Amino acid sequence: MTNSDWAGKDFYKTLGVSKDASAADIKKAYRKLARANHPDSHPGDKAAEERFKQVAEAYDVIGDPEKRKQYDEMRSMFSGGGFGPFTGPGTGTGGQPFDINDFLRSQGGGGGGLGDIFGTVFGGGGRTRRAPRRGADLESEATIGFTDALDGVTVSLRLSSDAPCPECSGTGARAGTVPTVCPQCEGAGMVAASVGGAFTMNETCPTCRGRGLVVEDPCPACHGSGRGTSNRTISARIPAGVKDGQRIRLRGKGAPGENGGPHGDLYVTVHVSAHRLFGRKGDNLTLTVPVSFDEAALGAEIKVPTLDGAPVTVKIPAGTPNGRTFRVRGRGAHRSGHRATGHSSDARGDLLVTVEIQVPAVLSDEAREAVRAYQAATAGSDLRANLFAGGR
Ligand SMILES: [Zn+2]
Ligand SMILES: [Zn+2]
Repeated sequence: MTNSDWAGKDFYKTLGVSKDASAADIKKAYRKLARANHPDSHPGDKAAEERFKQVAEAYDVIGDPEKRKQYDEMRSMFSGGGFGPFTGPGTGTGGQPFDINDFLRSQGGGGGGLGDIFGTVFGGGGRTRRAPRRGADLESEATIGFTDALDGVTVSLRLSSDAPCPECSGTGARAGTVPTVCPQCEGAGMVAASVGGAFTMNETCPTCRGRGLVVEDPCPACHGSGRGTSNRTISARIPAGVKDGQRIRLRGKGAPGENGGPHGDLYVTVHVSAHRLFGRKGDNLTLTVPVSFDEAALGAEIKVPTLDGAPVTVKIPAGTPNGRTFRVRGRGAHRSGHRATGHSSDARGDLLVTVEIQVPAVLSDEAREAVRAYQAATAGSDLRANLFAGGR
């Protein structure tokens, strides 16, 4: 969140405190309101969620001495205390929407953390309950066959992700015990520190490092960290039409969230094996077929294979040059999004057949005679004549 997002917002009003409220009063007001509107207590209640976000946003600013100072300065700068709509360049109606997940994440780093504050707010006698947090995004890779890439396929992926320690369910305390409320800060996570003179400021509690809880008997599996690893095998649907090297996103297939938060996403980089005969160009399939000189010269009807059905006949006109490509409509890959519409040619790409004229490595006597006769019949035409015409 940038300072420009503060414009037009009265965080003191949001928390129902006066402009010169003490840090302790702001915190008290915040905890009361956050508790009253916490999403855990109002599942599905959008209005409460919105209030909770506003309260959290307000506390993020005026609950932080440094940000509060900046905010106060900004307020006095723009309207001598009152706070009209701010219309400066680039601020619009408040910039980025406030993202509760970003907020929770930003609070979660480095000890402290909103979740932990709630843990003590809600927990009472040591039972902890933390704010929901979205699971991490994960990366994985899959190698699939050529036809599977065209049709879509379900693959098994083995995923390893950070997860709460299974022994202690992430509390960090030995199984059968629970973390206790920090004796120094009494669960607040913050303690008053004297900065000289009459000033006191809050700082992160050194005993619990802001968590509000202490573990007296650490879990032997995670050494009190509460963190573990989870290995899961999931099945994932790779959609039809995926290309080699493509990275696809599978929503909600990432690491599980904490405290009822949603799963993260899974990104899968897909490798597609080459086919023995066919290649791919978008929705079109490509195929190179050998033709003989006489077929190319005289014209022919040649039979070519298709990927998923009976061979088709391609008509090669007389005088076809090497490398010419012929299009067989509707015998390519299914176009993405057209899987259900069946066999109309719109729903599929084309098969692109490229001819490659073959020269026989060995000639029978009879064939050699025939070629010599051909040579004699075409004597006098010099294919390379115009390479030398007209100087440079
Ligand atoms: Zn503490
Ligand atoms: Zn543990």
